Amino acid sequence: MPARIYVVNRYCSDDPVAGAALTFGGDPVTAQSPRTGPNGWATIAMDTFADGEYVLKITPAHTSQLPVGPEVAENLAANVTRMFRSLDVRIVVKKGQAVSAAATAGQEENGAVVGLSPLNIQLQPIFFKGLGEYSIARKPEGISLIVIHQTAGSTSVHGSLSWFKSRDENGKVRGSPHYLVSADAKPQVIKISRDGYPAGHAGGTLSAWGGNANADMFSIGIENSHAAKTLWPRAQVDRLIRLLEQLVKAYPTISRHRIVGHTDVLSIDRDCPGLEFDWALLEREGLGMVPRSGSVSLDLAYGGFFRLEPTGKLQQGNNDTRRVWGNSKDSKGNPKIWPANPAGAVFAGSNIGGVANIAGQDVGNSVRNVTEAVVATLVQGQTPVTVSGAPIRELQTDLRDIGYNVMPDGDYGKNTKHAVEMFQKHFFAGSRRGLVAEGSNSRGSVDAVTAEYIKRVRP
Ligand SMILES: [Zn+2]
Repeated sequence: MPARIYVVNRYCSDDPVAGAALTFGGDPVTAQSPRTGPNGWATIAMDTFADGEYVLKITPAHTSQLPVGPEVAENLAANVTRMFRSLDVRIVVKKGQAVSAAATAGQEENGAVVGLSPLNIQLQPIFFKGLGEYSIARKPEGISLIVIHQTAGSTSVHGSLSWFKSRDENGKVRGSPHYLVSADAKPQVIKISRDGYPAGHAGGTLSAWGGNANADMFSIGIENSHAAKTLWPRAQVDRLIRLLEQLVKAYPTISRHRIVGHTDVLSIDRDCPGLEFDWALLEREGLGMVPRSGSVSLDLAYGGFFRLEPTGKLQQGNNDTRRVWGNSKDSKGNPKIWPANPAGAVFAGSNIGGVANIAGQDVGNSVRNVTEAVVATLVQGQTPVTVSGAPIRELQTDLRDIGYNVMPDGDYGKNTKHAVEMFQKHFFAGSRRGLVAEGSNSRGSVDAVTAEYIKRVRP
């Protein structure tokens, strides 16, 4: 009897590999080569084989040997939805039957043999098109951001792949990223959408970065199989880093600063990639928003607020015009109003540049768009006794310069609070998680530690 063979997606028993050529002994693939049918099945006349060892090469209709990244799947026709790795299987035949079969040594990541009768072969998918890919292409120069996600629910690749091709109860596409990094012992990357097309992963109009709304349009989304509130396997983070390196090399318009978390770009609260994700591992490779090393003096930052109130916090309700900064209250429990600067105070600098010279170049950069009228009125040669300038506007300008979606209006409202919370979720995650405790009232407020990190992170 001929042997039956079934070729299927390694992660999905319901996703057969159709049209894969089956060749023996190094024969080239031709139009006449036997192929798997639409359901992944084929037959091999193994009953005519002499006893011995054979190498069966399985060559999917669409395949690549390249690392999964910018070079894979980009030029496929729109109706091609799958690519798999090819696989060489060593089969020992006795009396016309396979008595053993296994992936050739060194090809274990390409697939595996999981059954002999029928011969059941799983292949590693490298492109599994989700429904979230938009239909209108974008130019490579239009790609300027990478957004990192966690699946949060589970580490099941099957679950994620099913999700990416599913619709909700209203028939709406659930969205899908460009890449998925698996949590396998040897983590695998599967391409879900082509880089040359936007895809629904960042939240559409609920997202913005660097002054541009709808991050889906200009970003590449990388989903990671990771269950919320669990530690990240180092091998998976290393695999992610390798993918990031490929992407920043392929798209020079993605500056290394512009590798962020989903949380960073969203106007709604979400833990993605979550508080366990250790951005410091990426920063070590120069990837993502990297805080400058060394400490930063806050003496002249934010109008000198932290020099006057080292344990104070800039927080929601603070307002430059009303001169309310920090969390101090007067005897009646009302927010403390800071006195104005003494009359006749001499400007420390005649303009913003002057302040920059005193405070260091960072402050100069961050307040460059603030009008002269709100610049600090420090008394030369004296220690200021009050908060000067426009600390909230300076804070908002800093956050906006980093990329967060904040308008510098001098009023610490809910948008500013949200941006500060997202900044803290990014920088006080992973190995820095303890710096500003979660659940403490510092989250969403700017204490000295948060202020220092904001000043250290520059585009
Ligand atoms: Zn996400």
